Amino acid sequence: MKNIQKYRFGIQILCLILSIVGFFYNFKITMLVIMGLTLLSGVFYCGWICPFGFLQDTFSKLGNILGIKKKKMPASLQRIFVYSRYMIFIIVAFIGLDIIYSIMSYDPRTSFGNMLLGTMPSMGAFSVICLFIIVSLFFDRPFCNYFCYEGGKYGIMGFFRIFTIKRNESKCVNCKKCDNTCPMNIQVSKCTNLSSPQCINCFQCISSCPVKGTLEYGKVNFTKKEKNRYFSMIGVALILMAAFFAYNILNGINPLERKEHSNITNEVLATEPSNSTSQDVESPSSNDEPASNDEIEKTEEAIEISGDAAGIPDGIYTGTGKGFRGPITVEVTVKDQQITSVEVIDHRDDMKWYNRANAVIPDSIVENQSTDIDLVSGATYSSIGIRDGVKDALENAK
Ligand code: SF4
Ligand code: SF4
Repeated sequence: MKNIQKYRFGIQILCLILSIVGFFYNFKITMLVIMGLTLLSGVFYCGWICPFGFLQDTFSKLGNILGIKKKKMPASLQRIFVYSRYMIFIIVAFIGLDIIYSIMSYDPRTSFGNMLLGTMPSMGAFSVICLFIIVSLFFDRPFCNYFCYEGGKYGIMGFFRIFTIKRNESKCVNCKKCDNTCPMNIQVSKCTNLSSPQCINCFQCISSCPVKGTLEYGKVNFTKKEKNRYFSMIGVALILMAAFFAYNILNGINPLERKEHSNITNEVLATEPSNSTSQDVESPSSNDEPASNDEIEKTEEAIEISGDAAGIPDGIYTGTGKGFRGPITVEVTVKDQQITSVEVIDHRDDMKWYNRANAVIPDSIVENQSTDIDLVSGATYSSIGIRDGVKDALENAK
């Protein structure tokens, strides 16, 4: 464990590079492996992989170099706010309100991840990233501790882990160095088998402990009382999981559904600017004679009659709009100056909200022959992404 922090730093840098090349995004199997590891041995993603976690760590170290003394949340407030990210997770997972999506569009973890993949965030979202970076100079992992619902989700998943940090009470000298060094504000000196869902397995507590063999990582050794508590909590967790599945199924959502990213589309996105459009047909009459006045009048009439696709030759056009988690790419089919179909071929949004938007917006555009349509409440960002993708496709087709 002596050099563990050096290894962790090296792995964090490696994972940052892998995030930039889209490794975790394109190979979703890695996330499944990480989740399996979380169930078995607690949260490693946050302490070792997450780029935004690493960014906060880096600025925390910079604060140390600048001589800034780290502050801790007062214990009385910590007892309350320690639950905040789990509350956020429950709200995000179970309640679909526009206000929540509006707030989540400023989620610095997602914005930073999108930045690494080449999508610039809005000024507001970028300011939130900067805010947390500055706060990290004074507090360890401010976003992870209180706001990150993704970290909260991993924490809950790893709650029943079999491997964890253990404290040997007979060796402990109660110096509290582990408590002071823990970036997640866990009172390690009060645990025997650490079960806090806040733990990110950074092992800083072990590295800081002055008595060798007092803190170790290994298989949980339960006392009888702990065992009873453990099994009761597994029961509660199973009931909650059943409720989660029932809720999704009753809302017509497959809770296991995960969208795979199309490699073909990735190539298109990688080689074209985000708002680019590819056309499967030649642009309108590029080699034809200039249109006569009669034809121009007819076209103007067609615009009035046919809506947004008026004047656009038959073909399939691709366009991109900005969804909640990044670009949404759509294919728009135009026939006889009418939009005959709208199909989303690539997106990054969560299936729960994307499905709601996709069930309504494409049909609504075809029906109205216009992108001037009502958005789906509770799936606003996905709705806007699909709508703007259609606008982009038609705009470029013209
Ligand atoms: S808590 Fe969230 S932001 Fe922090 S490391 Fe984990 S996933 Fe990343
Ligand atoms: S308890 Fe130890 S391993 Fe867990 S977050 Fe705190 S310092 Fe890191």
